[in-house]
Amino acid sequence: MRGSPGVVRKALISVIPGLVLVLGFLLLFGLSLDHRSRRETYLEDRTRETINSLWAIIGALRPFAESVIEGNVSSLDTKAAVEAAMDAGAGPYRNTLGNTLRRTLKAPYDVICSKGFHQLQICFPDSTAFVSFLAGCSDETTPAEAKTSFLVELANASLHPVEGFETGQTLSGYFFVYPLASAEGRPLGAVKLGLCPNTILPLLEDLMGGTFFVLLPQKELEDEGVLPSRKNLIPFPGLADFLVPDTLLSHHRSAKGPGLKTIETLCGNLGPAERALLGDRIAFSTPQNAAPSPFRLTFIPLLSFKGELVAYLAGFIPDGTLQAQEQLYSVLLAGTALTFALLALLLWFSLRNHLTVASLATWDALTGAMFREPFLREAEREVARSLRHGHPLSWIMFDIDHFKEVNDTLGHAAGDRLLKSLGEALLQSIRPSDSLARWGGDEFLLLAPETSELQALRLAERIMAVAASLDVPGAPLRLSVGIHLHHQEDSIDDSLRKVDEALYRAKRAGRNRVVRWSAGRT
Ligand code: GH3
Ligand code: MG
Repeated sequence: MRGSPGVVRKALISVIPGLVLVLGFLLLFGLSLDHRSRRETYLEDRTRETINSLWAIIGALRPFAESVIEGNVSSLDTKAAVEAAMDAGAGPYRNTLGNTLRRTLKAPYDVICSKGFHQLQICFPDSTAFVSFLAGCSDETTPAEAKTSFLVELANASLHPVEGFETGQTLSGYFFVYPLASAEGRPLGAVKLGLCPNTILPLLEDLMGGTFFVLLPQKELEDEGVLPSRKNLIPFPGLADFLVPDTLLSHHRSAKGPGLKTIETLCGNLGPAERALLGDRIAFSTPQNAAPSPFRLTFIPLLSFKGELVAYLAGFIPDGTLQAQEQLYSVLLAGTALTFALLALLLWFSLRNHLTVASLATWDALTGAMFREPFLREAEREVARSLRHGHPLSWIMFDIDHFKEVNDTLGHAAGDRLLKSLGEALLQSIRPSDSLARWGGDEFLLLAPETSELQALRLAERIMAVAASLDVPGAPLRLSVGIHLHHQEDSIDDSLRKVDEALYRAKRAGRNRVVRWSAGRT
């Protein structure tokens, strides 16, 4: 408590508002994390919803496929024809049997075509095709499926129904494959029903809203060697690695969903991270803006049994939920940031004012020493501590000799400067535990804990030396000093009186000296 506001208290002025700012920053951080996780959850939910809808549609078509197979295709006649063709081996007889079977199966094939199926095929146990119907091919021809079907192989090997996405020679789609067996249980191969994925699109659009496409991956089609057999495929707008039938695009040009130009903009907006997800065959949804309204894009990879990419299901769904949420969060974040910044500023001002007021009430602005009141409060604490621990406590009162002359010769302003320099020099040379007060105009009082009378004498001499060392035009500054060692029975008033008396004696004795209090002399 030497004579200036504590460093800690000063530091608090910036530390407390700083803490408020840190708190605000943490809150903002928490809010943005929360926003991000809500956004991710929303997008994941929408992706899952699309996947569930896709499987629900496929699941709804399964009983239909089964009933067609069981009711029409797997009839005893068909099985007998397949068995006969199998036993006959390649040749004209097998061809005749094949043509007969084609005529028989034309009616059920037309039925499944009306429900969006595009392929019906009967394969032998070695998985080679026997009879094939494929939309777009004439009734007379049996297109050779150069590419073997893994699903057919699997159904033949396991003798169990198998289904899944697959890239065929002329059709990429979802296939239901059912094993065929004679009445005696002899394996006769399999029946394969191909569902064109584009069939699913209008149903998905009804369920999810927006516009859906099936995107065929160009590279995979090339790798499979089936690209030359695919006709009328054109690059998808904005996603050149994917192909779509040109008829599909012309259909959607007149549909209710986003126009081709918008779709191209939306796909063009996809960032590197989203394109990487496409490359990694991961299902995801992403919000994208395209004037005049915001959209949600959902991409679902359609993978084969072996995990190969068959196609991507791409949905363009009008959805401004996230964009609206984004705006709300921006306002919330800006509001929170502003509130905390204002709070920190307010705290800084009020703390600074509080400290200034407290300082003005405690410290003399000219000398930096304490006023009487706060000094006496400090003195009460020190006296109590000294009594409790039995440690010495010294009072030192000093007054500048003939200070009036300094004022008279150098002027009052110079006198002020001298008082200021003396205060600074004194505060530098005393201990932090010492308390210094400006007791009167040029009179100071120092309370020195843990200081014996002998130490007080030395301290007084040091104070006089400090005063004498100040740069004063003319004669050096001299002090008269009185000291008093606080006695156990002394009250504060007693000690004040005694130290004042000692100073008075020093003045009377001719000034520029130290006098310690002793009883009986005045
Ligand atoms: P003595 O040796 O008896 O102490 O003589 P002195 O001239 O120092 O007279 P005294 O201590 O009785 O009076 C104090 C003088 O100090 C009176 C006034 O001129 C001067 N003084 C008091 N306060 C201030 C101040 O804030 N600024 C200046 N410049 N002078 C002050
Ligand atoms: Mg004086």
